[in-house]
Amino acid sequence: MNQILLNGNMIKRRSCIDIEDRGYQFGDGIYEVVGIYGGKLFLMDEHLQRLKRSARELSIKLPFTMADIKQDLIELTKVNDVIEGLLYLQITRGVAPRTHELPVEKVEPMVVAYTKELGDLTELQDMGSTAILQEDIRWLRCDVKTLNLLPNTMAKQRAVEQGAVEAILNRGEVVTEASSSNVFIIKDGIVYTHPANNFILNGITRQKVIQILQELNILVKEVPYTVTDLLSADEVFITATKLDVVPINSVDGHDIGTGKPGMMTIQILEAMRQLTARLQVQ
Ligand code: PMP
Repeated sequence: MNQILLNGNMIKRRSCIDIEDRGYQFGDGIYEVVGIYGGKLFLMDEHLQRLKRSARELSIKLPFTMADIKQDLIELTKVNDVIEGLLYLQITRGVAPRTHELPVEKVEPMVVAYTKELGDLTELQDMGSTAILQEDIRWLRCDVKTLNLLPNTMAKQRAVEQGAVEAILNRGEVVTEASSSNVFIIKDGIVYTHPANNFILNGITRQKVIQILQELNILVKEVPYTVTDLLSADEVFITATKLDVVPINSVDGHDIGTGKPGMMTIQILEAMRQLTARLQVQ
């Protein structure tokens, strides 16, 4: 079955967006992508907390309680019988006559969610992939997960054209994150990742990996690092929902370390796999 959730109702997927939906016209909306493992939504509470924060930052009043939306999303995953995949949830401010300023009259946010099956990512995680570098041309509120993703899609397109899995973004000398993932580097046994401020999206996977590192007694420093640090790192990996941990073997054609997934990255990937495997046997 391919059902979607539209404003609280399960309906058959169809496309019907009012042309004056502010999400459609301005990208005035927020979203979350939640991983599904063994039919279970992974880290859903964390995703919903981030959604709540994004809504607050954009003054969008969420038209549901956390408990209700959670119930609906679990139901949607069940109805669509997705075992391995992801769930996309989007809330736009709603429909109002087009003006740049926020509508004076009350608008009803538009809530949409759908699920998607995903193929096996084991090989990508085991083999690693390549990345390119791109200047980070995004705005200064990358901490809000909004629908405005054009700089991200453009950067990713360049990566794909060059056979790479990701575009790692640099603001001048500083590496921030990647077009749709967070970036970690390892040097002399210490893991570095950009601090969670307005220059990056604080990935849910990023936060889980930091927690795993702490549990493994591996030192992790949330500090800005440079393009030179990236290129001379022993290991580099990216994190994102459902990708989990993907080793980066080369950046712009420069080998990272041995040019193969490093030992620490593999250790972190395995720890993440154990965590998601536990969901599947619950
Ligand atoms: N940064 C950006 C710009 C992203 O789009 C994403 C994925 N949505 C991430 C980081 C990773 O976040 P998460 O681990 O929550 O998927």
